[in-house]
Amino acid sequence: MPNKFIPIAQPDLSGNEKKYLLDCLESTWISSKGKYIDKFEKGFADFIGSKYAVTTSNGTTALHLALAGLGIGTGDGVILPDLTFIASANAVRYVGATPVFSDIEENSWNIDPERIEEKININTKAIMAVDLYGHPADMEKIMAIAKRHHLLVIEDAAEAHGAEIKIGGSWKKVGSIGNAGCFSFYANKIITTGEGGMVTTDDEKLAQRLRIYRDHGQTPGKRYYHEVVGFNYRLTNLQAAIGCAQLERIGKFLKKKKQIASWYDRYLQGIRGLKLYREKSYMHSITWLYSLLVVPPFPLNRNELMVVLQKKGIETRPFFYPLHNLPLYKTGGKYPQAKKISQSGLSLPSGVSLTEKDIKYISGIIRITTEL
Ligand SMILES: *Cc1c(COP(=O)(O)O)cnc(C)c1O
Repeated sequence: MPNKFIPIAQPDLSGNEKKYLLDCLESTWISSKGKYIDKFEKGFADFIGSKYAVTTSNGTTALHLALAGLGIGTGDGVILPDLTFIASANAVRYVGATPVFSDIEENSWNIDPERIEEKININTKAIMAVDLYGHPADMEKIMAIAKRHHLLVIEDAAEAHGAEIKIGGSWKKVGSIGNAGCFSFYANKIITTGEGGMVTTDDEKLAQRLRIYRDHGQTPGKRYYHEVVGFNYRLTNLQAAIGCAQLERIGKFLKKKKQIASWYDRYLQGIRGLKLYREKSYMHSITWLYSLLVVPPFPLNRNELMVVLQKKGIETRPFFYPLHNLPLYKTGGKYPQAKKISQSGLSLPSGVSLTEKDIKYISGIIRITTEL
């Protein structure tokens, strides 16, 4: 019997997506004006617990827009984790600033707050925290460091819609804590618009600047008058329509992600050489992609296990390369945790349509490889 293909993550578009899209087509509002953009921004701001939300064309442009809007530019340094998707660092380059990599924590795989201060110098302007695989960065500690050194904080929450962390005793969603939060709505993220992004903030002036920069830098109320170099980073009404339908069901998606994580935890339990993510008591991870480390005494290394799973039709993803080691960002310095975790980290299928049977099957194949 041929194996069924199990993708890493697949969107669920079975709600009102089609209905709202048809509404856009019938109304002819298909570009970047229309009721769904407003509705999506308001709904997302409410969900995150931010005062303002500004849609963008994707998660990368959300990061670029946030950095530009915060006035980060040439000569400035932005500290970010050595282990993240390339877009986090590239966005820093887009504004002419320098990405400064910092090592990660062994257990959370996120930027290690204890290592940040050694990277701060006279040029440092901001810290960019990333919530890798849906696990919140340690924002209480990061905000305290930022306050002490008068730095801005950008949250790259592209993988963590709905993840929470306790700050000063109360739960806050990631993206509502720093000066700006950035999200992606790529097809495999928690909610999708095909391509799309959002910047969240409580700062009214920043929200206004983001809107100006997003729309060619046009001065509000003065058509074709420009005081700054802006961009066209707008989302379309079509994309926002899908976003509105997705947002109606985000609670359901998050519940399913949690269920998937607990199934994996159960079926992978006790396999020697697998290091599973363990949530800290003051964090609510949303486990965007269920991820683990493959280390001795597991009989295969990470890459070998990926091949075994691929042959069974199971799609997986290796962790990112440490950025300091990529040809485009090659810098000196030591990043032992990022190096170790990058080599052993693996993400397993985590789409919301997976069943307990699928997770049992995937886990079973991993377990069998240890018994051969
Ligand atoms: C997906 C992602 C981005 C970029 O989002 P796009 O919508 O693909 O441009 C940025 N940072 C992280 C951590 C991501 O996972």
